[in-house]
Amino acid sequence: MRPFSPFSRKPLLLLGFISVFIFLYNVASHPRVEKTMQPTAYYNDYDEAVCLPDRVLKKQPPHQKAKAAIVILVRNSEQVAIAETLENFQDKFNNNFDYPYVFLNEQEFTTEFKDAMHQAAPNASMSFGLVSVEHWSYPSWVNQTYAQECRERMDAENVFYGGLESYHHMCRYQSGFFFNHPLLENYDWYWRVEPGVRFYCDITYDPFLYMQKYNKQYGFVVTLLELRETIPTLWKTVKEYARSRRLDLSEKKSSLFPYFEDDNGDYNLCHFWSNFEIASLNLWRSPSYRDFFNYLDQTGNFFYERWGDAPVHSLAAGLFLSTDEIHYFEDFGYQHDKYRHCPSKESGLGCRCECPEGTTDESIDHDQHYDTCLPKWRDWVKKSNARKKGWRNVWA
Ligand code: GDP
Ligand code: MN
Repeated sequence: MRPFSPFSRKPLLLLGFISVFIFLYNVASHPRVEKTMQPTAYYNDYDEAVCLPDRVLKKQPPHQKAKAAIVILVRNSEQVAIAETLENFQDKFNNNFDYPYVFLNEQEFTTEFKDAMHQAAPNASMSFGLVSVEHWSYPSWVNQTYAQECRERMDAENVFYGGLESYHHMCRYQSGFFFNHPLLENYDWYWRVEPGVRFYCDITYDPFLYMQKYNKQYGFVVTLLELRETIPTLWKTVKEYARSRRLDLSEKKSSLFPYFEDDNGDYNLCHFWSNFEIASLNLWRSPSYRDFFNYLDQTGNFFYERWGDAPVHSLAAGLFLSTDEIHYFEDFGYQHDKYRHCPSKESGLGCRCECPEGTTDESIDHDQHYDTCLPKWRDWVKKSNARKKGWRNVWA
């Protein structure tokens, strides 16, 4: 009898096959790693836009954090919508990253509201702040009778939210004051979240650390056209401001400002939608921005017109930032009202997205919608990168 019959080799072969299969499976299921990226670095630092399996995050939770908070200005009456948003936000991101929530309101939050928030995100740390009257009322130089007449006219002319007094205060607050709320004193970064918004993809890296690492100041997901009738004199005022402060806004200076200018020298109405913002608090706390906001505020047009905080933030970014300092979170899946952005298939971005497809009654693929500024933004970034390369060649 031969000591090794061909039959006894079968289990060994099978074992071999299984080992090879397990090895290959592990390789295939490993998150995509760019050539330059060291796996240990991104597992520990979470400052690269990668899609990690949840078990990696659970096994090795982030050890480094940015000085950042999730900021939510909200009314007691929006409790149900914000609770839903919180559950979704915890699920897609914050259960793993554990950033604190700061809720703000010009009225005291009710006990019921606070309880509902703790219930929606049981392990999250939360603080609830009152907006000071000074930041949510008429400044001395505003003529309140005239402001009311303006609201009535805007209402009659169907200017979106033009007739709603509280909305004017909200826009002014988000433009000029929220970043100085005492509850945000110890933070450098914020992520603005609103009731009813939804995130569709997992976010398995830290967007604040990403911003920090790549010297970004302002991050957006949706960019679109503003309603002209809400800001009749905003562009003119911003231009006057730039002239009075002798700001050099030429493309040579890699300023973002020319992006917002159309061929006739008017505002092209593009702006970053501010219901989502991941940005630097210090950008708005800077003396230049303070000066800019005060200049705008002196006109009274947060009340006589219906200037939104979105175009105000965007045009300020235009004045004070370079294109490089803006980050488009293309990998996020996000919806506010009916407008949705989801990473496209071709982009290969996004992590375990559960996005609706196409356009329906509940959800509009905004990247294909008539009022998107995305193609314009992409062109601008391309142009600005090409220009940078050109300059580098000149100096080389
Ligand atoms: P839209 O996104 O422009 O349609 O306006 P929203 O109604 O969503 O308001 C924008 C943000 O400001 C949301 O986070 C609201 O909860 C908040 N907000 C709007 N008006 C008020 C208000 O009068 N008081 C408080 N506390 N929050 C407000
Ligand atoms: Mn909203």
